[in-house]
Amino acid sequence: MPPVASELAYIPFVSVENMMRLVHHFGIETILDELTDAVEADYRRWDRFEKAPRLASHSKEGVIELMPTSDGEAFSFKYVNGHPSNTAKGFQTVAAFGLLARVDTGYPLMLTEMTLLTALRTAATSAMAARQLAPEGARVMAMIGNGAQAEFQALAMKAVVGIEEVRLYDIDPEAIAKTARNLAGSGLRIVTCSASQDAIEGAHIITTCTADKAYATILTDNMVGAGVHINAIGGDCPGKTELHRDILARARTFVEFEPQTRIEGEIQQMDESYPVTEFWRVLQGDAEGREDVRQITLFDSVGFAIEDFSALRYVYAKLQGTDFFQQIDILADPDDPRDLYGMLQRAAA
Ligand code: NAD
Repeated sequence: MPPVASELAYIPFVSVENMMRLVHHFGIETILDELTDAVEADYRRWDRFEKAPRLASHSKEGVIELMPTSDGEAFSFKYVNGHPSNTAKGFQTVAAFGLLARVDTGYPLMLTEMTLLTALRTAATSAMAARQLAPEGARVMAMIGNGAQAEFQALAMKAVVGIEEVRLYDIDPEAIAKTARNLAGSGLRIVTCSASQDAIEGAHIITTCTADKAYATILTDNMVGAGVHINAIGGDCPGKTELHRDILARARTFVEFEPQTRIEGEIQQMDESYPVTEFWRVLQGDAEGREDVRQITLFDSVGFAIEDFSALRYVYAKLQGTDFFQQIDILADPDDPRDLYGMLQRAAA
């Protein structure tokens, strides 16, 4: 249970160091597995959430976004950027932090780093979709784009879907080598490839997770055979896509929250009449998932606030009984709530 308001002068802050301790303590595959279930549980109560496309501030280098939502009991937001040119400067493409608060008092409950947590929740969300949409018995995944998200994506597909082989491709051979090194010993069979065409050879799931502020064509129509599931992560901003539109024309496409994905997803290339299914409908039994073995399914992921809400609540629960946080006095707490100025004056004495 969240603490009562009078206990909230101090709230837990989860630093990057403590997030790493938490992940190692419980084990990354356990975290990914449980987080997938946590995101899915919130998707199953979709109607309970406030939903709006995220607030995006665009620049020529990238985007800064605020992602809020609430289920009426708790509120959360994430601050996140997306700057594909950052890695050349030694910075992350995606960095984030977020806050969980209680609705009845409006008081924060927890502040946390969310760069690692975004990688975890994005991988969990991909796995949640693939668990429903990938062809039966999917064991091989192509992973195109081997940057910061790549290992998390591969491990979630292993833990949740049962992927056994990952075929890596990136335009930068050093990124492929880094990912292969990091995944050695994970239990996955790692195959490094010299072209995206090689990577998708025999793959049941194709994950595209590249970063370029452009209408890129990571996959063309003739590359994609019948029956695969495409997990498209990197096209998540106006003017930033990964798939040729002819693939969309052939695929059955699933999205998180349609009004946001129409602006940011692969489907920005299609007109408004292009049919999509919000994924929560599949979970609630409202809509079909994969309809036949030859169908191409596409999860056009852009990242939605409910996934961050799930991740924040999951971490908040995991903190209980641990020391994986610091207490920070983020809230002024005068003895008399109306004597804020008196509290300031007394501090001078
Ligand atoms: P990153 O910069 O660490 O890695 C991106 C990789 O893509 C790099 O290694 C780069 O060399 C490679 N790449 C670029 N163009 C390529 C091409 N044409 N073919 C093959 N590889 C190519 O970025 P990241 O943190 O791993 O994020 C990857 C993408 O995922 C970004 O576009 C980011 O915005 C997006 N993202 C989406 C979500 C979501 O919820 N959908 C969440 C996090 C990140």
